[in-house]
Amino acid sequence: MANNMTDMCTVDLRIFGENRGIYYDETNRCLVYLTNHETLSDLMSTMTHEVIHHCLAKLGVSDEIDEDMEEKMIFFMAWAEDSL
Ligand SMILES: [Zn+2]
Repeated sequence: MANNMTDMCTVDLRIFGENRGIYYDETNRCLVYLTNHETLSDLMSTMTHEVIHHCLAKLGVSDEIDEDMEEKMIFFMAWAEDSL
């Protein structure tokens, strides 16, 4: 397990961009693009999604799974409460 659990994550908002959001592990930074969202709830979901990327990276999980597996894991997390 990674020992950098205290690394802070920042979330920067941009107006325009090609994606909804992206996480940069090198700088512990998330970028979230406002115009690619329809509601505040949608925006919050993307911010949570990107911060979970940060958490998985700092836990060392990202090194053990591929990008598709990581996206699917975060998707399941987002819907977990509704599935109960
Ligand atoms: Zn993602």
